[in-house]
Amino acid sequence: MRLQNKTALITGGSSGIGRESAILFAKEGANVVVVDVNGNGGQETVAMIREKGQQAAYFQADVSKAADCEAMVAFAEKTYGNLHILFNNAGIMHSSDDDAVSTEEDVWDLTMNINVKGVFMGCKYGIPALRRAGGGSIINTASFVAILGAATPQIAYTASKGAVLSMSRELAIIHARENIRVNALCPGPLRTELLMKFLNTEEKKQRRLVHIPMGRFGEAREMAQAALYLASDESSYVTGTEFLVDGGITAAYVTPL
Ligand code: NAD
Repeated sequence: MRLQNKTALITGGSSGIGRESAILFAKEGANVVVVDVNGNGGQETVAMIREKGQQAAYFQADVSKAADCEAMVAFAEKTYGNLHILFNNAGIMHSSDDDAVSTEEDVWDLTMNINVKGVFMGCKYGIPALRRAGGGSIINTASFVAILGAATPQIAYTASKGAVLSMSRELAIIHARENIRVNALCPGPLRTELLMKFLNTEEKKQRRLVHIPMGRFGEAREMAQAALYLASDESSYVTGTEFLVDGGITAAYVTPL
């Protein structure tokens, strides 16, 4: 098993990428702390793991709150004795996030607080725990929009993911000699609730699909597989990367017909 004797904390573990990663990490032997604001979804993820006889516990936290982030890390150490893998994955894409002219200040602030400050707070309290464990792996979920611009605007979201990517690079350099690796997972557009709520008509979906060389949205499970690699010792020489899992979007100039 690829994560035997490791403890992993995954934020946004109630659905999508976080849930699939929690299930996969537990299957690979990790003790998993599922963190989310959505208690029902989080408990459901934990139940799905426990019914297979694997290890998981739920902790309710809002990642934009310092006290919650401090408490989630303390919970992981108290419950499982240590923390080796920190997956800062929770994020939002607000339905009123648009271009710079029409996006309201409160949408910007909320997006930045969860998507950027949430990653910072996870690291602020998680890194000392990883040090106590002798090192570990941090995975921060950014996005392909940290690298490419889109004509369907979501200005706050895009800016937030750029921040996650650049923050991850700096963290990787600062902590490289402490046996702590930091990578930004950059998913392409996925068939998860987060994006499908935003692309709520067939026309909007097709407008995106035309840019994906593979001609389909990604699956949360495909992101979990990438996160598993970054979490495990198989990626022991991988740090500071923009780990793109995007169906070829960022490589394409013109896509196949
Ligand atoms: P999702 O909506 O299924 O999952 C996000 C989870 O984060 C939810 O369970 C939600 O309750 C939780 N969450 C939201 N705010 C929180 C907070 N303040 N504190 C704790 N938990 C909170 O979406 P997903 O697609 O699985 O998204 C996971 C990550 O992947 C996000 O960071 C998202 O931006 C990123 N991402 C998604 C896509 C996509 O197309 N779906 C593409 C690129 C990047």
